Amino acid sequence: MTVEIDSLEVRYGATRALRDVSCRVAGGEVLALIGANGAGKSTLLRTLAGVTRPRAGTVRVLGQDTTRLRAHDIARRGLRLVPEGRHLFDDLTVGENLWMGAHRSRREAERNSSQLERVFELFPVLREFAGRRAGALSGGQQQMVAIGRALMGRPSVLLLDEPSLGLAPRYVAQIMDVVGGLAADGTTVVIAEQNAAAALRTADQGIVLSNGRITHSGPARGLLEDDDVSRHYLGVGTNDRTDGGEPRRLTLALDRLDV
Ligand code: ATP
Repeated sequence: MTVEIDSLEVRYGATRALRDVSCRVAGGEVLALIGANGAGKSTLLRTLAGVTRPRAGTVRVLGQDTTRLRAHDIARRGLRLVPEGRHLFDDLTVGENLWMGAHRSRREAERNSSQLERVFELFPVLREFAGRRAGALSGGQQQMVAIGRALMGRPSVLLLDEPSLGLAPRYVAQIMDVVGGLAADGTTVVIAEQNAAAALRTADQGIVLSNGRITHSGPARGLLEDDDVSRHYLGVGTNDRTDGGEPRRLTLALDRLDV
């Protein structure tokens, strides 16, 4: 298994952000994390990346116990997080932002150049805009830069936090296509999304979090067809978010109440 999470518990003061969370992700698989605002999706990704410390439980990445490792040590072992909100250097160019994600040593130079080429193949618009200020790009293009920067580290495990947030549907589709392609090439991807339908259609497995607990888990296809999941997260019969419409406030509110 590439990622193994056992009995994870995370607290922020009195808030229990994750409770008894366990799951496995195999190499080249896509795992979708679904849940309302505040369900614990970001906390799970941040804990995997070593940015947040669990109070209990273990995380293993590529067979190594990473629970107590620091974020940069976990990154060096091949796991990269693309945080919510992208966090680009707006005044640097697209190319400079991408290089920020590359390995530093000189002997990596050749592999970095070929990886940059791979990023440009995945997101052709970034080649065209390589010399532009990152801050001048659209939201979708900035998300591509953020993912491209993470890919410059040639990760075995890529964590994406809400990559579709605020993006036009065509960008969401393009990003989900890239996620599918990366997984087909062997990269393991964990993707936290409020756009549950788009994420589950791309994923192999899914987990639904509510108030820090797993309420549903299993093959993504099964979750897409699950009545309970559909009703709460997929907007069946109303405004499915994959059409690029408003987020599903009603279902989010219901989830908050844990009904
Ligand atoms: P969102 O989509 O809003 O990011 P999420 O599912 O990713 O939601 P988390 O951000 O992981 O959820 O939050 C889980 C819980 O932990 C929430 O109750 C949130 O308010 C709380 N929380 C998150 N980060 C912190 C923090 N740094 N300090 C205190 N509480 C936090």
